[in-house]
Amino acid sequence: MRIHHLSCGSLCPHGGRLLGGEGGLLSTAEVVCHCLAIESGDGLVLVDTGFGMEDARNPRQLGPVFGLMNAKPRSETTALKQLEGLGFAAADVRHIVTTHLDPDHSGGLPDFPAAEVHVLSTELDAALNPRLRDRPRYVGAHWGHSPRWVRHDAGGDEWFGFESVRILPAAGAEIALVPLHGHSLGHTGVAIRTGEGWLLHCGDAYFNHGEVQTPPTCPPGLRFFQNLNAADNKARKGNQERLRELAGRHGGEIVFLCSHDPHELERERGRTNAALAAE
Ligand SMILES: [Zn+2]
Repeated sequence: MRIHHLSCGSLCPHGGRLLGGEGGLLSTAEVVCHCLAIESGDGLVLVDTGFGMEDARNPRQLGPVFGLMNAKPRSETTALKQLEGLGFAAADVRHIVTTHLDPDHSGGLPDFPAAEVHVLSTELDAALNPRLRDRPRYVGAHWGHSPRWVRHDAGGDEWFGFESVRILPAAGAEIALVPLHGHSLGHTGVAIRTGEGWLLHCGDAYFNHGEVQTPPTCPPGLRFFQNLNAADNKARKGNQERLRELAGRHGGEIVFLCSHDPHELERERGRTNAALAAE
């Protein structure tokens, strides 16, 4: 089972050292949108979509927060264009699994209108009928095409002690949603069994690789942003603590990655290239 690591859009906010831990205070930090494209027995499975073609044409639809974050949606970095570059067509994407529905994760949904979109029920409800305070975070244009939503509710299954729900049984791969609420109300991790163990895409449950290490580290601006942006900050912090414990106990079996850390993206691309070279 082959997994492609894509960055589907980027954000270049000012405050390099405060956000990325490197560079000057006014330099720009590099924030990637790490998505996965899994070649499965049931077509391509995308985990998150980053920004999409319409975001590139009309970045204003992302709202003022993404303007402040210096979002750079470009057509050539959309999942659609990158997959076309790899020889796939939009129709090859049969499933999209979303960690949550913030604009930097859901922008590509309209580019794959035939795909089933797998999401936790709590997140779908939060996005379609947002609380007053959550209204600015979701962009309704990303689901204006009426996606083929597939709701999931965790419970029944267990993954390393976390409540989970197995999805896509026809994919010939073990894929499970592992709810990690807090950043948004229905935020989830996505666990994928690989040849070597497990890959856990943690979405926005953390933003910097240092946050799942013990003791945790995080550039102060990034910590501030996460506290500010959380739909339920207590749950977010609690889940981050559980991820640290998991990494401490099972770090040898599970590869952790989040959406926005450029170091993790580089690490996984390096790992993929090394595996290809060894084939
Ligand atoms: Zn995000």
